[in-house]
Amino acid sequence: MNSSYPSWFAQGFPHIWLPYTQMKDAPLPQPVVKTDGSRIYLADGTELIDGIASWWTACHGYNHPHIVEAMMEQVRTMPHVMFSFAHEQAYTLADRLVKLAPEGLNRVFFTDSGSTAVETAMKMAVQYWHNRGDKQRNKFIAFKHAYHGDTMGCMSLSDPEHGMHRALNHHMPRQYYVDIPSDEYTLAEFAAIIESIHKTLAGVIIEPLVQGAGGMRFHAPDILAEIDRICKQYTIPFIADEIFTGFCRTGSFFACNQAGISPDMMCIGKALTGGTMTLAACLAKEYLFEGFLGEGLDQALMSGPTYMGNPLACAAANASLDLFENEPRLDQANAIEHQLQHLLKPCMDLPNVKEVRVMGAIGAVQLHTSNRSHILALRQQSVTHGVFLRPFDDVIYIAPALTISRDELSTLAHSVFLLASSPLN
Ligand code: PMP
Repeated sequence: MNSSYPSWFAQGFPHIWLPYTQMKDAPLPQPVVKTDGSRIYLADGTELIDGIASWWTACHGYNHPHIVEAMMEQVRTMPHVMFSFAHEQAYTLADRLVKLAPEGLNRVFFTDSGSTAVETAMKMAVQYWHNRGDKQRNKFIAFKHAYHGDTMGCMSLSDPEHGMHRALNHHMPRQYYVDIPSDEYTLAEFAAIIESIHKTLAGVIIEPLVQGAGGMRFHAPDILAEIDRICKQYTIPFIADEIFTGFCRTGSFFACNQAGISPDMMCIGKALTGGTMTLAACLAKEYLFEGFLGEGLDQALMSGPTYMGNPLACAAANASLDLFENEPRLDQANAIEHQLQHLLKPCMDLPNVKEVRVMGAIGAVQLHTSNRSHILALRQQSVTHGVFLRPFDDVIYIAPALTISRDELSTLAHSVFLLASSPLN
């Protein structure tokens, strides 16, 4: 640890357990003292352009004054109250989300993280069938390379073979894991699978258009539309996990919009509060909600995360939606797509690059080979370029604030090029 590390770091670090990290030999994290726009300011005075907007939460850039002001006002009057009460921020937010969501997603269940939103969707699907007297339907179809969160239920929906949770495979409920169809033949195969097992299925879940943590893998809107159609044909609730893809990330407000579909449930989170507070939600169609109406609690949805509908988080989310209404975020996402297509093109000529993919405000450069030490070295290297990038597995990717400047994006793309050029040790 060099002398530029603040004293709180030395005191606290021995007690910290970092995310997705082998703590035995991981490099020390960088102490941060400030964020602003697309910039992260380190304790040693280094300024970094953030290429992934803190796991793509900070869609308007960090510390947007409109969100900060709304939060300041809310924190003075009511930072929190339990959600058995009604309060303006959550009720206004629910109404606004329903108006923005694909048609028919009429009910909003607020949760405190993306993972709990996905857990809620699973629970809604299984109990919906249970309430109808159909107790066989408790399995899900999830897709290979899927990632839906880190709690046990979510982990069971994530790819058991390639996914990051494979060490715990034997401790998780088994689901059905199938390839995302890519043409009429594989769509027919998918339909045949559904035909053969639909009586055991509670639902089908997908990250629409982009599988994020599974490697920034894309599929086409017409494939998504067909999967939705097949689910509807067999009346299987179709769950869209838009936790990564929502809020303009893929070039439309929700990824489902590009396919013209309206899933039965939709999970949102991450950018919902514009990168300020943790808040997520599971939106559901009215028929699912009605499936829980009955005489006793046994038929009710027995879920209530302590901080659900937290007023401060909802105030941040409402302010974030103001910005989506009043500032050209969709145009910015599409401008980022154009720029990335141009800027990342030279990467295609690099010997270690397998593929370059761009969709909306996501750019991914997939390498032929990589390993953990290479990826860790690339992460360190990006800091020397004055940027923050967090490649994983074999992918170097950008998912910046939608407000990032052209120059900042060019600097990021240049760094991606340099990282992709870096030989494997
Ligand atoms: N689903 C997807 C697609 C995600 O990207 C994430 C984020 N890691 C989650 C679910 C889980 O969200 P959270 O980390 O907020 O629990």
